[in-house]
Amino acid sequence: MTALAYDVALAPEPADRRLPAATPAGDEAWALLEASGALAMWVDVQGRILDATETTADLLVYPLDYLRRASLLDLVALESRERVAQMLHGCAHDRAARRERVRMAGGIGGPDWIDLRASHHAAADGSTALLLFGYDISDWMESQRELSERAFLDPLTGVGNRAYIRKRIEECASGRAGQGFALALMDLDGFKNVNDSLGHEFGDALLKEVGARLQDTVRTRQSVARLGGDEFVLLLDGMPTEADAVRILERVIHVIRQPFLLGGCHVRITTSIGLAHSAGAPQSESQWLRRADLAMYEAKALGKNRYCVYTPELDRRLDEQFRIEQSMFEAVQNGEFLLHYQPIVWPGTGKICAVEALMRWEHAGKEIRPDIFIPVAEKNGLIKHLGAWALRCACAQLAAWDAQGIHVGHMSVNVSAVQFLHPNFYDSVRAAIQDAGIGADRLVLEITESVLMTDPKAAEQLLLSLRALGIRFAVDDFGTGYSSLSYLRRFPLSALKVDRSFVADMIDSPHARTIVSAVLSLARELGLVAIAEGVETEAQGNLLAAQGCDLVQGWRYARALSPADFESAVLDGKLVMGQGEVFTQRVAS
Ligand code: C2E
Ligand code: CA
Ligand code: CA
Repeated sequence: MTALAYDVALAPEPADRRLPAATPAGDEAWALLEASGALAMWVDVQGRILDATETTADLLVYPLDYLRRASLLDLVALESRERVAQMLHGCAHDRAARRERVRMAGGIGGPDWIDLRASHHAAADGSTALLLFGYDISDWMESQRELSERAFLDPLTGVGNRAYIRKRIEECASGRAGQGFALALMDLDGFKNVNDSLGHEFGDALLKEVGARLQDTVRTRQSVARLGGDEFVLLLDGMPTEADAVRILERVIHVIRQPFLLGGCHVRITTSIGLAHSAGAPQSESQWLRRADLAMYEAKALGKNRYCVYTPELDRRLDEQFRIEQSMFEAVQNGEFLLHYQPIVWPGTGKICAVEALMRWEHAGKEIRPDIFIPVAEKNGLIKHLGAWALRCACAQLAAWDAQGIHVGHMSVNVSAVQFLHPNFYDSVRAAIQDAGIGADRLVLEITESVLMTDPKAAEQLLLSLRALGIRFAVDDFGTGYSSLSYLRRFPLSALKVDRSFVADMIDSPHARTIVSAVLSLARELGLVAIAEGVETEAQGNLLAAQGCDLVQGWRYARALSPADFESAVLDGKLVMGQGEVFTQRVAS
């Protein structure tokens, strides 16, 4: 149509028209313009309408006579006037065609938006006429507006989406630096359980309700968004201090804790929130989100159902984790990991019944503690290699001591959850025993309660098949994990290790003493060997012996030693091997 518009010619018309005398025109062309259903008119550089089609009058809902006396600029909305004027001048000046989306003044039912094109025609008398041609694009503009609004909306909950919150953070971070804002990232605790047990439909209903409660709580609809899944973000604007934001978060935590009515039943969930306040150096929008995210993970780690405020310490820790993770891969290759062995002894005689293999990492002349590196290795998956290596190494060590005439009854090896749940675990244990040539009945695997409870069915199968080989299991850190005791009967277990926190407190705290004695009698009743760990003093050792604890382990007797130190302590007579088979005795009885 643009090409057509260029060729259009207008016949000279009656004198009341201000059409330039020599404007080219033709009846057929004019008829074509009428038939196009589009806006078509001649204007001068100032926008005065020289002529218009009847279709145009119909389209704009003005009488044609009125149009012929009006200026185009009066027909367009105020906001578009300047641009239209520029378009006309530009077109007249350089004679190049132009195009603009123009908002119309509207009000009497005409189109809101016109896609307006202007082309230039020089009249014989030297004056200029511009042909305007335009389509009604109101519907298209409306759908565009809806689309852009929807592009910022989370379709499920009706709160903002990720793109929206990013835009808002950018606005806040750049615009009103002095006022202060806070970004809170929240994750629902246990949402997966709701989804898994009640189904996705209820999960969605819950998310909707959470969105609604959040909007009610922070009041300004603009500040709530969902990042995806069960992660919501609150952008709290106008928060001069952290404390202002914290007050709102406390309300949010309370509001989310109230029961949700889903499908006729009350469902309770909690939320963990990370807060980043804008005090301090300005950050990019992704850095704000990252900070809130770090703080949120800290809130989860601290036990959920709480908020946690970002501090640079969190970054420092992440940094350390990152560095540990990076050097860990090389450390495996460089052989920086070692096993040390801590004796497990009879409380009466102090003679050695078994040893526990404990991993050591010496990196750049510094020892990195297992409490630090084991969780990192669990996260990055290296624990599978490290754990398999520890198993092989510990079994081989037991065989080497056998060959030296140092008979250590049992070797205890720690197994982490990630390692235990790996499909290769069974094979790696069997290979370690076979390669070392030791009896399976001399290996004890230490597992925690959480390992058993993550997937009890799979755990039971695995324990049974390993137990069939002759391998035994001890529950490590007993009393700190899962609260149900029924699993003790379900799984084929041989020993309980009383957590060292109870042992540490048992002299001063009657409560700790009660727990220790309860665990000891529980073990007795169930035919399990009781091992107390972290025994540091003679008083603790005596008390445990008096209460009938089978075996003890701790600095009172010996620290974890390198193989060479262990061997020389045995040769020097500082460590004495015991005889007798405490595990078989107990299990057989
Ligand atoms: P754990 O299995 O509870 O190991 C006992 C921890 O208590 C060891 O810490 C040991 O050195 C320490 N300990 C022993 N006697 C005493 C005492 O009298 N007082 C005190 N305060 N502590 C004592 P360590 O070697 O730092 O290991 C920490 C944890 O790292 C272990 O706790 C275990 O969970 C994990 N870990 C160590 N080696 C391995 C391994 O090869 N594989 C896996 N998966 N985890 C390991
Ligand atoms: Ca252990
Ligand atoms: Ca332990």
